[in-house]
Amino acid sequence: MAQQIAKTAGHPSLRLGVSACLMGKAVRFDGGHSRDRLLTGPAAPFAELVPICPEVEMGLGTPRPTIRLQREGELVKLVRPADGEDLTARMRAWAEQRVEQIAKMDLSGYVLKKDSPSCGMERVRVYDQNGSPGRDGRGIFAEILMERLPLLPVEEDGRLHDARLRENFFERAFAYDRLRKLFVKGWTAGDVVRFHSSEKLLLLSHDPRSCSELGRLVAAVKSHNREEFAERYQRVFMGALAKKASPGRQVNVLEHIAGYFSEKVEASERAEIVSILEDFRKGLVPLAVPVTLIRHQVERFELDYIASQSYLSPHPKELSLRSHL
Ligand code: SF4
Repeated sequence: MAQQIAKTAGHPSLRLGVSACLMGKAVRFDGGHSRDRLLTGPAAPFAELVPICPEVEMGLGTPRPTIRLQREGELVKLVRPADGEDLTARMRAWAEQRVEQIAKMDLSGYVLKKDSPSCGMERVRVYDQNGSPGRDGRGIFAEILMERLPLLPVEEDGRLHDARLRENFFERAFAYDRLRKLFVKGWTAGDVVRFHSSEKLLLLSHDPRSCSELGRLVAAVKSHNREEFAERYQRVFMGALAKKASPGRQVNVLEHIAGYFSEKVEASERAEIVSILEDFRKGLVPLAVPVTLIRHQVERFELDYIASQSYLSPHPKELSLRSHL
């Protein structure tokens, strides 16, 4: 059993696309960088980073005059105020072909630089014709990336400072890695049943309705066209994980797990679990506390089905992501 839990907890290295300036590469317009301490620090042992700078790769050079998004009627254009050049078509053409290459790189996630007219994911400044900025834009490269690869987990460096968003991004990225490996080639109905079984509690912590929908889909896997099944399973699966795992849902899942061993433990141990779950529900202790306690009991009683659940170890413990939830 110890071996099985160790295997469940082992995580592969993720391949993540990243705005090159976040890796510390001096590609910004002013010749500087925006090194991200999470990506280049604690996450580095678990992630192979693929740096891409749209503005440099499309040939704008470093250093370079600033560019920005500008609204003209219904259109949002990418312009260089210094000489008024419209770079929209050039950026779009470069991004379309680059994203086709990215689609073949087996990425499990992408971290974009916030506020950039090329890389920003949301709330990027869009200037009106009077030169006043609104905060409703998306960088042109980011837009094409997210349209072409809608299942790919994408986040911005700024949002990763939020503990919940950070945990959710890495949870989705590791889950997407598992999901892609399942459907990469020659999958069988048995593979899908085993996969879904081991992801069930993770899905329940996010979205019970989608978990049920996927369960029904898996139960009828043999009656579906393979491509349609794979497309729908992946879409609903990733959509479920994008929904917030509330404290109440986490408690429901942990109580469900505790039900597997509650008759086997002493009354005092049962009381301790109830008390810690209540502390978590009130925000007095982080999620890592009840999960660690319950994992211990799962190992103690050799509960194979629960030990195989990705929920107990959705990302490397070294990232301490559940210590801040
Ligand atoms: S935000 Fe994007 S385009 Fe700008 S320097 Fe960073 S990687 Fe390059």
